[in-house]
Amino acid sequence: MNHVVNVLAFGTRPRCSLAGLRVKGNGLKNNCLVNHLTEAAMRKPETLSYYRATAHSAPERPRLQGSVAADVCVIGGGYTGLSAAIELARNGLKTVVLEAGPVGHGASGRNGGQVCTGYSPGMGKFERVLGADAARQAFDVAEEAKTLLVSRVQKYNIQCELTWGYVHGATRKGHVPELSTHRDELLRYGYGKTRLLELDEMRAKFGTQNFLAGLLDEGAGHLHPLNYCLGLARAAEAEGAVIHEHSAVTRIDDGAKVAVHTADGVVTARQVIMGCNAYLGNIAPTIASRVMPVASYMLATEPLGADRARSIIRDNEAGADSNFVIDYFRLSADHRLLYGGACSYSGIEPTDIKAFMRAKMLRMFPQLADVKIDYGWGGYIGITHNRLPDMNRVSKNVYYTQGYSGQGVVLSGMFGKMMAEAVMGDAGRFDLFSRIKHFPFPGGVLRRPALAVGMLYYRIRDLLA
Ligand SMILES: Cc1cc2nc3c(=O)[nH]c(=O)nc-3n(C[C@H](O)[C@H](O)[C@H](O)COP(=O)(O)OP(=O)(O)OC[C@H]3O[C@@H](n4cnc5c(N)ncnc54)[C@H](O)[C@@H]3O)c2cc1C
Repeated sequence: MNHVVNVLAFGTRPRCSLAGLRVKGNGLKNNCLVNHLTEAAMRKPETLSYYRATAHSAPERPRLQGSVAADVCVIGGGYTGLSAAIELARNGLKTVVLEAGPVGHGASGRNGGQVCTGYSPGMGKFERVLGADAARQAFDVAEEAKTLLVSRVQKYNIQCELTWGYVHGATRKGHVPELSTHRDELLRYGYGKTRLLELDEMRAKFGTQNFLAGLLDEGAGHLHPLNYCLGLARAAEAEGAVIHEHSAVTRIDDGAKVAVHTADGVVTARQVIMGCNAYLGNIAPTIASRVMPVASYMLATEPLGADRARSIIRDNEAGADSNFVIDYFRLSADHRLLYGGACSYSGIEPTDIKAFMRAKMLRMFPQLADVKIDYGWGGYIGITHNRLPDMNRVSKNVYYTQGYSGQGVVLSGMFGKMMAEAVMGDAGRFDLFSRIKHFPFPGGVLRRPALAVGMLYYRIRDLLA
C-alpha cells in the first residue's frame, strides 16, 4: 500500500479525480471534453490564493535585460530551482535564476503545504526499479530532504509556520489494513515515527465521521508553502544568487556554453538547471512529454476562531483521506480551514473553484455549512508515469528534475541540491535517480483521455472498496 503518506498520492492506486467529467451541478465548464493545457493557460493569472494574500513582502526583482554571463543559469523560481541556486551560490558559483512569473508562481506557491514522508508511489516501486540497496539510499534522500528543509528554515529564519504532525485517514473499510501495511514498510526502512489510530482516536482528533482509522506520522507535517518559497528566494540572494522575475525563457541554445534566451535578454552559462516541473511549457519537448500536468484545487474558509478550528482538527495536524479523489486539509495559523483535492486529468476547469471545493469540504465537515469561503485557487502538479521523480540531463550540461507526483514540498529541496552537486562535479546521488527510466505519456489527442479512462477504473475500484 503505497498511497498512505502522500497528500496527492499518485501511487499504485492513484487518487485523482474524474470529477471534472461531471459537467452538471458542480460548477464545471462544459466547453469541451479534452481541453489541452496550452502554455498560455498554464501561465494564466491565478485566482488570488490565500497564500498570496498572506505572503510576506518580497522585493520586486527586475526582469532580465541584455546579456549576462554566469556559471550556472537556473530556470524556475520554485523550490527546486531555488534550492539548487542556494547550493550553487553558497559554493561560490555565479548563479542567475530566471522565473517566468513572480517567485512561487508555480506549484510551490499554491500547494497544500503538506510536508510528507518518502515518495508518492511508496518504496516498493523503488525496490522493483532500482533494487533494495538503491531503494534504501533513495529513502535516506527523502529523510535528508526533511532535515534540509528544517535546517534552511532555521538558518535563513524562514517564517513559514512549519508544524509537525500528519494523519492519513482511512475512509473505507477496505483501506484500513493498508495503514498497517504502510507503517510496516516504513519500519523496514527504519522509520518509526508513525502510530496507528483507532476509530475513537480519529473521532476525538477530527470533527468528521468519515474516518474509520488513521496513521499518525509525527515526522511529517505542514507549512505555508509560498512563504517557504519566498524564504528560499531570500536565502538564495543572501548567498549571492541573482533572481530575475517575469523573465520567461523562450529558447535554450545548447553548446559548450549554453545560451538561455528571454524576450529581453540572454544568460550565457557553462551549465543550466531546469526546475520547471508541470509549468515547463514548450522549451524542452523531450522532457515535457514525461510529465503530465494535473490540476488540483484548494479553498480557504474565513477564520473560524481558535475553538471552532480545533473542533475540526484538534491537534493541528495535516490530514488527508484514503480515496482516489484524495482530499487534504489543515488549519492555517489564523484558524482557517484549508481544504484541497479534486485533481483533474481532463483539463476541464471548474468555473467556480470555491463552490466546487466547498461541496467536497462539506462531505468531510458538514458542520461548516454556515462558513464563508474566502479564497479558492488551483495549480498544476507534475506527475510521471511511474510516480517517481524524473531527474536527468537534457544534454551534457543541461540538468532537470520534475514529476514529484504530488510530494515535492519536501523532496524538491534535495533534488535541487543533488542537481547542484552534479553541476559541481559530484554526480553520485544524481546518478542514483537518473538511472530510473521514465516513459512519455501518450501524445496528441490521446494524452488526457487515456489517462482519464485509467483513473475512472481506479475510481470505480475505490467506490467498491
Ligand atoms: C494544488 C497543489 C497542491 C499540492 N499539494 C502538495 C502538498 O501538500 N505536499 C507536497 O509535497 N506537494 C504538493 N504539491 C506539489 C508541489 O507543490 C510541487 O511538487 C513542488 O512545488 C514542485 O516545485 P518545483 O520548484 O519543482 O516546481 P514549481 O513550483 O511548479 O516551479 C516551476 C517554476 O518554473 C517556472 N517556469 C516554467 N517555465 C519557465 C520558463 N520557460 N522560464 C522561466 N520560468 C519558467 C514557473 O513559472 C514556476 O514558477 C501540490 C501541488 C499543487 C498544484
